[in-house]
Amino acid sequence: MPGRILIADGVATNRISLKVMLCSASYDVVQATDTAQALKTARNCAPDLAIVDCDLPGEGGLALCQRLKAQAETADIAVLVMCGQATPEARLAALAAGAEEMLEKGMNRQLFMARIRSLLRLSGQEREWRLRTDTAAELGFHDPPATFVQEPGVLVAAAPGLAEEWAAPIVGAVGGSVQTVSPDDLLDHLSHSAPPPDVVVLAIDGAQGLNLLAELRSRAETRHAGIITLHDPAEPAHMAAALDLGASETAPAGPGSQELAARVARQIARKARADRLRNTLHDSLKLAVTDPLTGLYNRRYALPHLARVARRAEETGKPFSVMVLDLDRFKTVNDRHGHAAGDAVLKEIARRLKDNLRAEDLVARIGGEEFLVVMPDTGLPEAHAAAERLRRVTEARPVRLPGRDDGIHVTLSVGLSVSQPNRTPSSRAREVFERADRALMGAKVGGRNQVTIARSAA
Ligand code: GH3
Ligand code: MG
Ligand code: MG
Repeated sequence: MPGRILIADGVATNRISLKVMLCSASYDVVQATDTAQALKTARNCAPDLAIVDCDLPGEGGLALCQRLKAQAETADIAVLVMCGQATPEARLAALAAGAEEMLEKGMNRQLFMARIRSLLRLSGQEREWRLRTDTAAELGFHDPPATFVQEPGVLVAAAPGLAEEWAAPIVGAVGGSVQTVSPDDLLDHLSHSAPPPDVVVLAIDGAQGLNLLAELRSRAETRHAGIITLHDPAEPAHMAAALDLGASETAPAGPGSQELAARVARQIARKARADRLRNTLHDSLKLAVTDPLTGLYNRRYALPHLARVARRAEETGKPFSVMVLDLDRFKTVNDRHGHAAGDAVLKEIARRLKDNLRAEDLVARIGGEEFLVVMPDTGLPEAHAAAERLRRVTEARPVRLPGRDDGIHVTLSVGLSVSQPNRTPSSRAREVFERADRALMGAKVGGRNQVTIARSAA
């Protein structure tokens, strides 16, 4: 999913070389030459990320960063500040201004691109969470009051002796509990400690550090934790690999201790915010908008969400895709195996659908054996591949039921429709949905167990 990137730099040659590099990676680039123009472009073009020159004409790069973060409509844009020399003081000032990162101009290209990917991932997630909270608010459910907030927990993993050294400045700066652990004991520690840490500092370079990072990201306890990895600055490939494996941020080992404390504090704040957004779907909302059998969202939630995705697509000019999926000849499953077996099949297929989509995609059960998938920022090739994947994972393995040797084989028909950017007005959500529904009829008529793409609106 390529993103939109704003380059704010007063020097034409800087803008051009950045643009060439970003366009070759298929990012959509917009440009600005001073702070006023950058603010305007940020509001009008809704970029996912802004790459800002520290010495931007006008008020300067850090002031731009502060302004972007101060306005609700631009606050979600990740900001990467570029400067000639990223000294610890300069980095600290950028972090204090709200920038996600400061990097040096002309740095290692592989690392630069890895950082851009990680920042885009982050801003995509935050936007999606916000979108869901807004949909919930529209349905009349508001943020739960901020009740008991637990003390943040930080875990510093590094060689014995060093870990205490890294931990000391963090203790002073963030409060809460700061624990230390050696690399060899890290996983064991996590399995036995409750609650899991909010932020992990991994001061372990090389293959061992990367393996531990991958492990942390795959575990339920630490999947959403902020993870800061520290590296030897002479090994940019390690940093790039860490970012691609899901590190929240990387820093050179031996950053000023204040910088590490500032990064930890920021990750704690981000984790708290993300937890709150995620928990906004509190129990009463959950009951009202989810389907008790499959745990998926229901129609009541899905349709306003779709409308919101369509509105946002209108603002960003990016396409979105909708699938309507229906199990084939499901009545015969009930007839042959009983209603309880049919329920178990629905549950299992719902799980497969969810497991085979991105976190930002929405899957809902909108009818008995009918599902809706909404994919924001997604054009035809990706959506078609996703639809085929869902069809395949349904057909691939029979659904096994407890106490039975044979499984139940089911298939799925899919109608797929992609929005047409800048074509249709705001009735778009309904229209895209209806076209997907008609395409589903086509898939049924065409023989079932297939994906049919809606013909584009004339
Ligand atoms: P088609 O390929 O044309 O979609 O055939 P179909 O049999 O799937 O379609 P039809 O609409 O005729 O029947 C849908 C069946 O799905 C009817 C009903 O028995 C079953 N069904 C709907 N909701 C549930 C449910 O919650 N649990 C179970 N077990 N079955 C359900
Ligand atoms: Mg059916
Ligand atoms: Mg049906």
